Amino acid sequence: MSAINSITGPTLILCVIGHPIEHSMSPIMHNAAIKDLNLNYIYVSFNILPKNLRNAVKGFKALNIKGINVTLPFKQRIMKYLDEIDPLAQKIGAVNTIKNDDGFLRAKNTDGIGAKMALLEAGYDFSNKNILILGAGGAARALSFILAENANKIVIVNRTEKRALKLATELKKSYGLNFEGKNFSNKILEEEIKKADILINTIPTGMYPKINESPISSEILHESLIVFDVIYNPLETKLIKNAIEKGCKTLGGLDMLVNQGALAFEWWTNLKPNRGIMKNKVIEYLGLK
Ligand code: NAP
Repeated sequence: MSAINSITGPTLILCVIGHPIEHSMSPIMHNAAIKDLNLNYIYVSFNILPKNLRNAVKGFKALNIKGINVTLPFKQRIMKYLDEIDPLAQKIGAVNTIKNDDGFLRAKNTDGIGAKMALLEAGYDFSNKNILILGAGGAARALSFILAENANKIVIVNRTEKRALKLATELKKSYGLNFEGKNFSNKILEEEIKKADILINTIPTGMYPKINESPISSEILHESLIVFDVIYNPLETKLIKNAIEKGCKTLGGLDMLVNQGALAFEWWTNLKPNRGIMKNKVIEYLGLK
């Protein structure tokens, strides 16, 4: 029975929490997957005031909400209220998915694995490659702890240099020596991009509505670079447009978004959702098709 068409007594609830939450694509993607598999679930969003986070977590248990996605600003601060965090999410220091097993809340982070799948499915093997990451926030941390397993070297540049240094130090501790954290400056970017095989942008510059902005100047891009922008709205950011013009291989953020959602969905329901349907619904919603 489709939850979209008919909510009944046994309908199970999945949700995303954040503050704000109106921009989230998760209800669109997940309800499309629920409908396609004809499951008796519904996926909703909750805008939670930060002061109410602890009570919201109690509410997941009290109301038997089966699966929860977590977005900004709660990915880190929710961890202390949960019953079990998987080791990768512990290292990343953030969770994006919670599963409620009869009142026991387990959490994971599927962002990095979703990004890794997107890169590999696009044919971009990152083993032994030099990766330059712009940003040191939640997305950068999720990606770097996954890519560090195979990359040759990862350099993180961030506006707040100490966050980049902290991440590089943690990566060194887990994986070895080849990680550096640096300040976000034109000079450093120019030097580091020459040595990079893959550039990954995780800073929100270029995200809707500031679609005419790019985090870096197009002049420093070179054609042997793979450019991955985790931003998915717009589908083709200014950075990606510039990279295409320069002859770079590119990847936008939509596949990562769909993959992290599909991994969560599978964990909650034990069923593989149709990622093509999830992706098309988001494209349709964003008015890009
Ligand atoms: P976050 O934890 O808040 O981190 C934001 C990062 O961007 C920080 O490193 C911050 O630097 C930097 N930054 C912000 N504004 C900047 C500016 N004007 N100039 C230079 N640096 C700036 O956020 P997040 O969770 O990592 O998310 C970042 C982006 O990734 C968002 O656009 C989000 O939508 C996207 N995302 C996409 C996916 C996907 O599935 N495709 C998944 C997760 C996130 P400071 O440390 O100096 O503040």
